[in-house]
Amino acid sequence: MPERELAPYAARPERSRGRHYREPPPRGRSEYQRDRDRIVHSTAFRRLEYKTQVFVNHEGDLFRTRLTHSLEVAQLARSVARSLNLDEDLTEAVALAHDLGHTPFGHTGQDALNACMRPYGGFEHNLQSLRVVDVLEQRYADFDGLNLTFEAREGILKHCSPRNARLLGDVGERFLKKKRPSLEAQVANIADEIAYNNHDVDDGVRSGLLDLEQLAEVKIFARHMKVVLREYPRIAPRRLRYETVRRMIDTLITDLIRASAETIRRHGPHGIDDVRCAPALIAFSPRIRDECLALKRFLRENLYRHYRVVRMSAKASRIVSALFQAFLSDPRLLPPDFKERSRSDAPRAIADYIAGMTDRYAILEHRRLFAIDET
Ligand code: MG
Repeated sequence: MPERELAPYAARPERSRGRHYREPPPRGRSEYQRDRDRIVHSTAFRRLEYKTQVFVNHEGDLFRTRLTHSLEVAQLARSVARSLNLDEDLTEAVALAHDLGHTPFGHTGQDALNACMRPYGGFEHNLQSLRVVDVLEQRYADFDGLNLTFEAREGILKHCSPRNARLLGDVGERFLKKKRPSLEAQVANIADEIAYNNHDVDDGVRSGLLDLEQLAEVKIFARHMKVVLREYPRIAPRRLRYETVRRMIDTLITDLIRASAETIRRHGPHGIDDVRCAPALIAFSPRIRDECLALKRFLRENLYRHYRVVRMSAKASRIVSALFQAFLSDPRLLPPDFKERSRSDAPRAIADYIAGMTDRYAILEHRRLFAIDET
C-alpha cells in the first residue's frame, strides 16, 4: 500500500526541531513514533489507570479513568488527523500525554494543590504534564525525563501563564508571542473536549446523577436521541444512551473535520510555521460550537456541581491539603527520593510527590499519616 502523503502543513518528523539531548535517529520508526512509545512505557502513563476525572476511583469500576479517557482522546484525535493528512503519531503522542501531570481526584485535586502552592509559584496541571516528560520520569541512563521532541512538548503544554512561559524557554515562547502549536496538537486538544463531554454524559447517567429527561433539555443530545427513538421506538434505556452518545460523537468529529478542512483551505498555510502564526485552524462550525458550549454548561450545572460530586470533591480537597501541610511542616515524612529533592525546594518536591499519586494511593497515604493505628 502506498504511504499516505502528509499535508504540507503537517508536522514532519524529519523536520522536527529536535530533542534537548541529541540522540541517534530511531530505527524503523519515526521521531514522533518514538515519542509516543516512550509515553506509553512511562510510569506516569500507567498511573493514569487509577486517577479520575469526575468520579473518584473507588466509586465504581465502570467509570472512565484518566487512562481510558486518554485512550479515547487518542482514538478520536487520530481519526481527525488521518482525515486531514496530519501526522497521526504526533497527534497520538500529545493525546496520550496530555493528562500525565494530573493530580489525584481530578480538577478538585488540582485546585487544592494549586491553592497550597500559591505562595510557591502555583501548580498548573499542563505545566506539570510537561514537567513529567521533561524532568520527573527517571528511566534513561543519559537524561532525566523522556527527552521528547519539541513538537510533542509544545503540544503537551496546552495552557501556560505568562510568568511560567518566560521561565520555559523554547516551548514557552508561543504564549508570549500569541502563536499556535501544530495542527496535530490543536486536534488532540479538541479531541480531549469531545471525549470528556461525551463520556461525562455517559458516566453521569450510569451513576444515576443525570437522567435522560434532563438531557433532553440539551439541544445536541435531544436531537440525536429523537432520531434514535424514531428509528428504534422500543429501544432499552441503556442502548438509547449509547446510541445517542455514539451519534453525538460522530456528528462532532465529522463537523470538526469538515469545518477545519475549510478553514485550512481558506488560510492556505504552506507549512507548520504558517500554522503557528495563523489563528486556530482546527475548530467546529459556529453552530456545533454553540451546541457544545450548551452541553458543557449543562454538565457544569448538573453533574460537576451535583451535591454528591461536590461532597466527594470536598473530601478529596481536604486530603490533598492535609497531605501538603503535613509534608511541608515536616519534610522528614517524605519518602527518601522526595526528601532528598525537598532540600533545594520543599514545596515543589511535595507538589511533585502529591501530583504523582493515584486516588487510592493518596487516600492510603492520608490514612498512614493521620490514623494512629496505621503504619
Ligand atoms: Mg483530558
